[in-house]
Amino acid sequence: MPEIAITELSLNDLRDVLSDWGEPQYRARQILDWVYRKPISDFSAMSNLPPKLRESLDSKFSFQSIFPVTEATSRDGSSTKVLFRLSDGNTVESVLMMYDKRRTVCVSSQVGCAFGCPLCATGASGFERNLTPAEITDQVLFFSRRLISQQSAVGSPGRGEGLSTIDYRLSNVVFMGMGEPLVNFEAVWRAVENLTSPGLFGLGARHLTISTIGIPSAIKKLSHKKLQVGLAVSLHAPNNELRDLLAPPNRMYPLEVLIPACRSYVEATRRRITFEYTLIRSVNDSVPLAIELAELLRGLNCHVNLIPVNPTPEFKPPHRARIQAFHETLTRHHVSNTIRLRRGLDVHAGCGQLRARD
Ligand code: SAH
Ligand code: SF4
Repeated sequence: MPEIAITELSLNDLRDVLSDWGEPQYRARQILDWVYRKPISDFSAMSNLPPKLRESLDSKFSFQSIFPVTEATSRDGSSTKVLFRLSDGNTVESVLMMYDKRRTVCVSSQVGCAFGCPLCATGASGFERNLTPAEITDQVLFFSRRLISQQSAVGSPGRGEGLSTIDYRLSNVVFMGMGEPLVNFEAVWRAVENLTSPGLFGLGARHLTISTIGIPSAIKKLSHKKLQVGLAVSLHAPNNELRDLLAPPNRMYPLEVLIPACRSYVEATRRRITFEYTLIRSVNDSVPLAIELAELLRGLNCHVNLIPVNPTPEFKPPHRARIQAFHETLTRHHVSNTIRLRRGLDVHAGCGQLRARD
């Protein structure tokens, strides 16, 4: 099988290939329109291309770099988790989430993760390798193609009754699956370009969010990018003592370095930053810690997502009243925040539950 996946190529890369083959340049857009927008599974379905060109594409490129192996859908139907095999036999998971009027794909950026945060199943499996731009992009295309074919099966959005009134296009992509995206910056950014370029997938940059455990140098790099992708920082604690335990990279990048990097990001991009604060019973859920958090974030244009921890043998979510008290304390101290519902837990598709094996 050819080693280069078609989604590894930019529009210009593909134009170069086509000119080597003596094919007209406009074919590049036609090909990428099929790849990024149509529910097909191989080059032979590209019906407006000459058969010889389809064969050349097929012999030179692979149509996809990831292959679905197993999948599980939560009982409420809101989350579908798919385990993909990569061409070297490694596996990663991605999740499609359909709620809050969004259809969001949560993508992985690495096989495993080197950081070993104690609450996260991905970290427990260790680090294997970075994903390629194609392997990241193809996770999104897999779900997008599936949604489009489901839509074709029930008719166009806005017409008729029932299911046909649902819009099946993907609306959001979050880099919140396996791995630390900012450690695999170049590949992640190539995937972001594939997903946002108007001639390719064409999603608005604001509909993409990169989640990071907090790597200041990479946050700085991100702040110089023109594309307005969202940034979420997994904070989990308002002081180094606690954060060293819950997010071990904090020992390398402590809060006195991380928070100024976040402030500079907000200044440079004029964008609000999101902090993810996983609430853990009797660990980081007290009112004094909420006050400390408000002090840490004072004057920073941000939003805090409070996420009751998806239970692990070690950590349990707080009781409802504690979550509410934490939320209200932040609000009283003028920190914009919301409590996020937990979903997909019955199929282990929740935050921090993705791993390389089922
Ligand atoms: N490495 C990046 C991207 C992965 S996102 C990061 O850490 O931000 C995974 C998200 O799930 C992170 O916000 C992480 O802190 C969170 N998470 C990990 N384990 C969790 C758990 N058991 N319950 C809830 N959230 C968890
Ligand atoms: Fe890696 Fe993020 Fe999980 Fe920590 S929370 S182990 S950084 S994927």
